[in-house]
Amino acid sequence: MKVSIDRIGCISCGSCWDTCPDFFEQNPDDSFSQINEEFRVRGIIAEGEAPQDLSDCVIDAADLCPVQIIRTEI
Ligand code: SF4
Repeated sequence: MKVSIDRIGCISCGSCWDTCPDFFEQNPDDSFSQINEEFRVRGIIAEGEAPQDLSDCVIDAADLCPVQIIRTEI
C-alpha cells in the first residue's frame, strides 16, 4: 500500500506515530511526521510503501489524523 504525508499541514499532534509507531515517526528537526526509513520510497521522508502486516495500523493512523493529511492508496 502506498502512503504519503502532506507534511506541510502536519500539526505534530503525535497521533500517527502513537497509533502506528513501526511506520511513522517524528522528524527531529521540524517536528512533523515522517515515514520510518525502512519503508520510504526513494528515500523520500513523506512517501512510503506499507507492508501488509502494517496496513491496518497505517489506515487507522490516516483515519485518526486530525488534519487528514495522510493518504493511502492500494
Ligand atoms: S496525525 Fe496527522 S497531524 Fe498528527 S502528527 Fe501525524 S500527520 Fe501530523
